Amino acid sequence: MPELPEVETVCRALSPVLEGAILQDVVIRQFSLRFPVPPNFHEKLVSRRIVKVQRRAKYLLIELDDGGVIIGHLGMSGRMTIYRVGDNVPLPGRHDHIDFKVVSGDLVRFSDPRRFGLMILTEAGILKEHALIKNLGPEPLNPDFTGAALADRLKGCKSSIKSALLDQRKVAGLGNIYACESLFRSGISPNRRAKNVQGIRAIKLMQAVQSVLTEALEAGGSSIRDHIQPNGKLGYFQKCFQVYGREGAPCPTCNCDWLVTGGIKRIIQAGRSTFYCPRKQR
Ligand SMILES: [Zn+2]
Repeated sequence: MPELPEVETVCRALSPVLEGAILQDVVIRQFSLRFPVPPNFHEKLVSRRIVKVQRRAKYLLIELDDGGVIIGHLGMSGRMTIYRVGDNVPLPGRHDHIDFKVVSGDLVRFSDPRRFGLMILTEAGILKEHALIKNLGPEPLNPDFTGAALADRLKGCKSSIKSALLDQRKVAGLGNIYACESLFRSGISPNRRAKNVQGIRAIKLMQAVQSVLTEALEAGGSSIRDHIQPNGKLGYFQKCFQVYGREGAPCPTCNCDWLVTGGIKRIIQAGRSTFYCPRKQR
């Protein structure tokens, strides 16, 4: 599932193609996504100039010159593929739901086999109050995401720290993969109560979240199955996962005999797999 680094990678790839471009046509083949594509989506977009492509949490925000904003989300399996003018654009498949064609001839295709993604419209003036946006927590790569700010968000939170990290109101943009990796890197047990991650632990966790996300971004985003960057290349940070998807493998930082300990452990928390090292993470 695309998390912050993947969405940011998509955003950075879309910006040079879409910013300043005028939408010549928008072809919608499937309106039934996580929320329905608005019936006036085509009418509101055609002939508009795109001013800015940004990211907030896992949302793509595409600003138009008339104050309209497209809120996009890649859901579980969404993908944006860029075809530059002159590229051979394949005939749309059944999962290719929306094409954004700009005047230069470039085309951006939104595909989403599982249809948990979305493309809706709002206005820039009310974006901050939009139901999907208003409760989002701090951006983990922004300077205001400090250990103290994280500790404050976790105060009184009775869930496990793993579940809290997936809560977009506490930290924006983390998903299952980077939550596991951040907890491993900071040596914090995923089972620890979130409210007990304070002080130096919160600082360590904040630093781990930032370093994990930064490395993933440098690697061009990653995902588990077949996430393809908008330039068509596969993300490759998954090769660097230290715990995620590595149940039973030796822990990369422990000296213990993994044949005896069983290596990295997998548990289920709130319906999601958590991978961790019970010896390193407390
Ligand atoms: Zn270990």
